[in-house]
Amino acid sequence: MPEAWRRYVCVVCGYVYDEEKGDPEHGLAPGTRYEAIPDDWACPDCGVTKAEFTLIREAQPVAGAARPTSSTVASLDPRAVVILGAGMAGWAVAERLRALDSRRSIIMITRDAGDVYHKPQLSNAFARKQGHSDLIHTSGAEKAQALGITLMAHTRVLALDLERRRVITASKGVPFADLVLATGARPLPLPVPGGELALAVNHLMDHRILRERLAELPGATVAVIGAGLVGCELANDLALSGHAVELLERESRPLAQIMPAEMTGQLEASLSARGVRFHGNASVTNIEVAEGGGFQVHCMSGETIRADLVIRALGLAPDTSLARGAGLATGRGIRVDERLLTSVPGVYALGDGIELDGRLRPYVRPLLEQAAVIAARLAGDDARYRPSRDQVNVKTTSLPLLVVPPTGSETGVWLVVRRDEAGWEMHCRDGEALIGYALSGDKIAHAAVLNALMKDQATAKASAA
Ligand code: FE
Repeated sequence: MPEAWRRYVCVVCGYVYDEEKGDPEHGLAPGTRYEAIPDDWACPDCGVTKAEFTLIREAQPVAGAARPTSSTVASLDPRAVVILGAGMAGWAVAERLRALDSRRSIIMITRDAGDVYHKPQLSNAFARKQGHSDLIHTSGAEKAQALGITLMAHTRVLALDLERRRVITASKGVPFADLVLATGARPLPLPVPGGELALAVNHLMDHRILRERLAELPGATVAVIGAGLVGCELANDLALSGHAVELLERESRPLAQIMPAEMTGQLEASLSARGVRFHGNASVTNIEVAEGGGFQVHCMSGETIRADLVIRALGLAPDTSLARGAGLATGRGIRVDERLLTSVPGVYALGDGIELDGRLRPYVRPLLEQAAVIAARLAGDDARYRPSRDQVNVKTTSLPLLVVPPTGSETGVWLVVRRDEAGWEMHCRDGEALIGYALSGDKIAHAAVLNALMKDQATAKASAA
């Protein structure tokens, strides 16, 4: 029997490579095995090489395992693992735990349908002409069945009763032995008059609403407020799909928090070549509905920008309301230790919602690593989460960027190492030590080498100490 087709996920951006389908648009014919992908092939969404891809362990039905047949929770198992949230983090825990333990009851509770999608793909769905259903890899119901878990979809959680170990939903209390909070983060509001007129795009359904609104406004001008990661990616995507884009940022340049200035200049130029008008030092004071349709975005400088649609992309804040209500320790996020345990035994948290050592840990790779740790602990291992450095990839297809910023306490100097039409390579150095890097265009392929270098450095430092 031929070996089953496998799927691999890019740990940097969440792009999924399916061997059966290949990626003909990017040079891989259907049926191309992972092993046969050339080493210098670049992830179509973020530009890293196949070394940054990891195998998705598909659930295989196991004979004799507990297989709930419907999504109703007829007999509630007090030994169950209950997962709150069906985003990438929630599904990653369910998948990994099922791979380690074929029998344990797993119940997943989510406000939405639980459909499986890779959130980073929302950032370039327009240019890829992906509609709502194209973005969904598997429906929540199908995935739950494949994994043998119980999915309570469209279910609101009202509270956590940690004393009696129950999740309180509108219809019933769901008992648990272990609880995993994968409740994510929410887009920050725009706290100015009219700020609520700006859409946020943080979820599959948000994206659907955006698509529907744009369908009614062909050739619309879109104002994007906030030129961080998501703002830049959306601006790029909307421009590629034929919209005029006004990109407003409070700082003087895009991605000011994470990228060295030389590289953001290059990004600005490439976005501008695609028709994105960048407005730096643009502090929005209010948004008004314009006469005759559309909106007026007023800035402190006196400038007014007209747009048919306004999007806010100001970053995310962990959703801690449930955890706080239940008395769990929270700061900016739900506080966890390196076991990913919250302040209450048997209650874990991961993903965009957590705070570890005083820092938030967003992005795809961390949540996949965290899911593996939680699954291993639930299966009886004493696994620990050792965060790797933040690696931020910006899927602005006109000029993809990858940056490993120095951590908060480090100070270094940014140097241009290589630069040509196809891309730049910059290193951040503290003396001899490489403490960060920024790559653009084809130089992103060099990331694996730099990561290895930084790892060796860390190992050498550890053994010296
Ligand atoms: Fe990628």
